[in-house]
Amino acid sequence: MREAEVDFSKLLMDTWRETERVFTSHRFVLEEVQKVHLFGDADRLKQVMLILLENALKYTPKGGEVRLSLQHQGTHALLKIADTGMGISEEDLPRVFERFYRADKSRHRSPDPGGTGLGLPIARWIVEAHEGHIWIESQVDQGTEVHVQLPIRTEE
Ligand code: ATP
Repeated sequence: MREAEVDFSKLLMDTWRETERVFTSHRFVLEEVQKVHLFGDADRLKQVMLILLENALKYTPKGGEVRLSLQHQGTHALLKIADTGMGISEEDLPRVFERFYRADKSRHRSPDPGGTGLGLPIARWIVEAHEGHIWIESQVDQGTEVHVQLPIRTEE
């Protein structure tokens, strides 16, 4: 990883706006985005954002909602991406960070939205390489909320 100081709020907002322009099928709701600068690999962090946004859109029917928020919480930043989609069952939830794992419901959806089951493991690898945590809360047919907590390191 190539680490440098990253304007994390700007990186998220730019990615959000680029995606919003392409996916007119969904409602994009921007919640509070606080200012956060951190030390990390901007390309990798953008990749995390893209994986999570893509999932939120892929597993939420057209007309559904995707939400973004970013909070500066002392020594950490907390990013949340939430959707109003199909959700993940209690049985699948502990396994979605495994490589190639795809929840039953998404594999059997017609048409299959596609996917290799690598997005979340890659996102977790990147977050953990930044000494952060990623976790998911979800309810079937209600939606999914992905949380990413990253330490705010400046110089090392
Ligand atoms: P890709 O590698 O293209 O991202 P994928 O979406 O199948 O493919 P992951 O991103 O690793 O792979 O996600 C694993 C599984 O977790 C998905 O197959 C899906 O079942 C479930 N999942 C992930 N995000 C969501 C979400 N926002 N809503 C509902 N299910 C989700």
